[in-house]
Amino acid sequence: MQFTNSIRAFEAASRVIPGGVDSPVRAFGGVGGTPPFIKEAKGAFMTDIDGNRYIDFVQSWGPLILGHANEVIEEAVIKAVKKGLSYGAPTEVETELAASICGLFDTIDKVRFVSSGTEAVMSAIRLARGFTCKHDIIKFEGCYHGHSDALLVKAGSGAVTFGNPSSPGVPEGTTKHTLLARYNDLESVRACFEASEGVACVIVEPIAGNMGFVPSSPEFLEGLRTLCDTYGALLIFDEVMSGFRASLRGAQGVFATRPDMVTFGKVIGGGMPVGAFGARAEIMAMLSPEGPVYQAGTLSGNPIAMNAGLASLGEIIRKEASLYPRLKELAQRLTVGLEAAARANGIPLQTGFCGSMFGFFFNENPVRNFDEALRSDTKRFAAFHRGMLERGVYFACSQFEAGFICEPMDEAMIDTVIAHAHEVMKTL
Ligand code: PMP
Repeated sequence: MQFTNSIRAFEAASRVIPGGVDSPVRAFGGVGGTPPFIKEAKGAFMTDIDGNRYIDFVQSWGPLILGHANEVIEEAVIKAVKKGLSYGAPTEVETELAASICGLFDTIDKVRFVSSGTEAVMSAIRLARGFTCKHDIIKFEGCYHGHSDALLVKAGSGAVTFGNPSSPGVPEGTTKHTLLARYNDLESVRACFEASEGVACVIVEPIAGNMGFVPSSPEFLEGLRTLCDTYGALLIFDEVMSGFRASLRGAQGVFATRPDMVTFGKVIGGGMPVGAFGARAEIMAMLSPEGPVYQAGTLSGNPIAMNAGLASLGEIIRKEASLYPRLKELAQRLTVGLEAAARANGIPLQTGFCGSMFGFFFNENPVRNFDEALRSDTKRFAAFHRGMLERGVYFACSQFEAGFICEPMDEAMIDTVIAHAHEVMKTL
């Protein structure tokens, strides 16, 4: 496989864009080598500017559950484009999409749309603080909630760590209200509550995809619910990634635990920039202009993005009964196949999936939290990633990311990927 054009394009990009990319993980820092520059994509496949074709398990990091350039979404977008790109005034399509989301969740009476997952979480946290009149938030090591200041906190040692900013440019004052706990470890959460003068919310990826794929245990989520109720804090499920992926109702379709607030992104935009946050009416009533908590956006509820989202959601709701079991079967087929390929070559591999989300760790032991994820063999992952890429398989370029199945994939495609994995595992 040749990457000549991508190498040239990456050099040109790096002269005018920091690191050559607009979001750091895209630079392939976790695996080395030049990222392929993409020319076009259709269904399960992407083609780069050297003409290499890949089966894509990244799917724009999650949104494209129906695959690239889905015709229904494409048509909705083109129709909307012809009516103007943005009005900065209310439209009926926002109501339709909001009603469609509220109709799926008994926990959500109202939603507000924003333009990214980062914005959704940032706004949800402000609202949680406004609603509870408390300041501290509890987040988990290894969970990612976008790049807003208060949530960019590095994991410290020990079960309870008061936040230290993980990036220059984030003043310590901004993160001093962010308490860190360990995923799947209720005692660490309890310790945070006990150490705090007032916790506004616990925010969690109920099915984590940002330390690799690491699901919660049902007891963990239920324990969070109980702790939040005991201490008068709100429980926020960040379902920017797992929403409409783990099941049509995200983690709420998988676990019995009910959150107070939910954040969405990715799938609800069908590939356009969209985020949203929702909760019961009493909480959402605190939001401006109904209530005092300010939140706004020039392009929020953008008509093109709303039409893409409505088309995407309409399709997955219509197809729920057949689509979700199929995506899950394919995810299972893939993870079972990868595990077999590893086993055949004496390589320890931990795999998991939930709905159309999956992941694998080059790790001797099961992974339940960030510390355990970090014990994975990232060198081996990088070699595996490179070998697969050169055989036309596009996995996320980091050991600490999840993968995604999309509707246009089928058994034969998965079996081809597994056959490639057998070859590549031999070389590791
Ligand atoms: N929350 C979660 C769980 C995410 O996975 C992401 C993005 N990967 C975000 C928030 C941030 O979303 P965005 O990149 O759209 O700002």
